Amino acid sequence: MTAFRRKHHCRICGRIFDDKCTSHIPGSRFGLQEKIRVCNSCKNIMDEYDDLEAQEMSTSKSRAISNFQMNPDN
Ligand SMILES: [Zn+2]
Repeated sequence: MTAFRRKHHCRICGRIFDDKCTSHIPGSRFGLQEKIRVCNSCKNIMDEYDDLEAQEMSTSKSRAISNFQMNPDN
């Protein structure tokens, strides 16, 4: 008998990975309520994407604050 190892489809790239090569991430950005299983490389991409989004959010937030400070008469 060959030992059957559990394999999983990455929900992003669709390739098949061993259990240890996958992680769960929140599916909210894909419109899903449950967590989705992705491979570790896709997870890294999503993590970087999250960092970029957070940076953009803080940038636009500080921009809004500086706009507010530029208009003190309001
Ligand atoms: Zn993947």
